[in-house]
Amino acid sequence: AVEVRDLRKRFGTEEVLRGIGFSVAPGEVFVLMGPSGSGKSVLLRHIIGLEEPDAGEIRIQGEPVRGPGVLDRYRVAMVFQSGALLNSLTVAENVGLYLSEHRLRPPEEIRRIVAEKLALVGLSGTEDKLPGQLSGGMRKRVAIARALVMEPQLILYDEPTSELDPLSARVIAEEILSLRDRIGVTSIVVTHDRDLAFAVGDRIGFLNEGRLVAVDRPDRLAHHPDPVLQRFLQAATL
Ligand code: ATP
Ligand code: MG
Repeated sequence: AVEVRDLRKRFGTEEVLRGIGFSVAPGEVFVLMGPSGSGKSVLLRHIIGLEEPDAGEIRIQGEPVRGPGVLDRYRVAMVFQSGALLNSLTVAENVGLYLSEHRLRPPEEIRRIVAEKLALVGLSGTEDKLPGQLSGGMRKRVAIARALVMEPQLILYDEPTSELDPLSARVIAEEILSLRDRIGVTSIVVTHDRDLAFAVGDRIGFLNEGRLVAVDRPDRLAHHPDPVLQRFLQAATL
């Protein structure tokens, strides 16, 4: 579904991505781990077409991601690290934004879909609240509900469980797997959360200093020789 080839990006003199390549199969959950500042969010922003690479390319179903209409056609959604909610809109308006902006459904149907997605992330009844009245973890779950409204084929999650308590984190992990198993949704999940990575990842990629130093199944990654990766995995279990 997604192909990343020799992706390079520098900001000023800092080389953030130094030749990244991997592909994600349709219906796969691909996890990206790595230290803070290693380029994980920058990589996701490239995949959703928000950054132009200096070199290399990204294709979704064989089409360059920055081509016209590609992200809409393949319905690619992103859950941003900060949630990126609009503070002047209610929770329901934020979650329903994609449908109301594209005038895809009548208002009462949008209300029904919004309620259904909020229930999925455990936030029934928060429709009329403003984002500022929610906790960080609740805002994160609203952002996930907003992504689900698009009925995406590909979802990019940037730290979906940061700020979440263990129970809410488990709900998110189960939802990622359920989307894969019920409707074949492809996911790319950026996370520091080792438990989440190993619970949902069909494969895990480890990014360090702009390079993908390892890509493997979770059970094999634990035995990978890269020393930074090993220190990272051990520290993450504390
Ligand atoms: P974290 O785990 O803390 O979220 P990350 O792996 O997501 O870290 P990125 O946000 O991808 O890290 O940033 C990688 C590097 O690129 C950092 O050094 C950051 O300062 C730099 N960077 C990111 N975006 C920009 C930008 N728009 N302009 C300049 N530098 C940037
Ligand atoms: Mg980040």
